[in-house]
Amino acid sequence: MNFELIMIGTGSAFPKHSYNSCYVIKSHGGLMLVDAGGGNGIFNAINESGIKLSEIHHIFITHTHTDHILGAVWLIRGIINMSKDGESCGSLHIYGNSSVCNALRLICQLTFLALDYGLFTKNVELVEISDESSLAINNTLIECFDVCSKNVVQTGFRMTFGCGEKLVCLGDESLTEDNLRKIQGCDTLICGAFCRYEDKDTYKPYEKHHHTVRDVAILAEKAKVKNLVLVHSEDDNLEKRQGLYKTEASKYYSGNVFIPVDGERLVF
Ligand SMILES: [Zn+2]
Repeated sequence: MNFELIMIGTGSAFPKHSYNSCYVIKSHGGLMLVDAGGGNGIFNAINESGIKLSEIHHIFITHTHTDHILGAVWLIRGIINMSKDGESCGSLHIYGNSSVCNALRLICQLTFLALDYGLFTKNVELVEISDESSLAINNTLIECFDVCSKNVVQTGFRMTFGCGEKLVCLGDESLTEDNLRKIQGCDTLICGAFCRYEDKDTYKPYEKHHHTVRDVAILAEKAKVKNLVLVHSEDDNLEKRQGLYKTEASKYYSGNVFIPVDGERLVF
């Protein structure tokens, strides 16, 4: 195993039957949570995925939208409560661009009790990253970059494991012509695909600056990505989503396609 993707949630911003898209990357060095979803449902979602709150010491937040950042506020509260109860949970580092760090600071200041906000400033390290920042988390190199979102400043990253395998995360952005050159050489790509192209009139992805399975599959083929993991999708028909999306993707893409559901673990 080089790494494992543990899907905490796979839904879009307004999921009906799943949690917002967020996932844990587990490597030999440890765990990193990418995004936190939009609320206190994160506690149940991580529990269902077999992860304990006390195991999370690194959280990467891609952008400030509600469905990615607000779950982190709850996780911070959870960790503060554990420390108040005398439970040792270790340090918590949160990585995000300046908008993410400012938003977290402000939300915690405005919504926490003064005592809890004091504990937040003492126990949580906000690490501000920008386009082209490099980080070493769990002994793994992480190179950050702007994912060229038209919605909001959003930061993705390329993670290189000891064996040389490269994983690229684009947050909830899809693979587009704008960010295509940033994923060159990546083995596994995890990115957003809002719905099938066939269902674009129902879900209207382009109005929300999102893209379809077909759009991503065409570019992933061009970039010679080996493994394509699609998340941040509509969840009207979770039982059939995997089969339907795989069928559409395989018309344009010859690599391995993964359409996970919440709680699923993908081993690479
Ligand atoms: Zn989103």
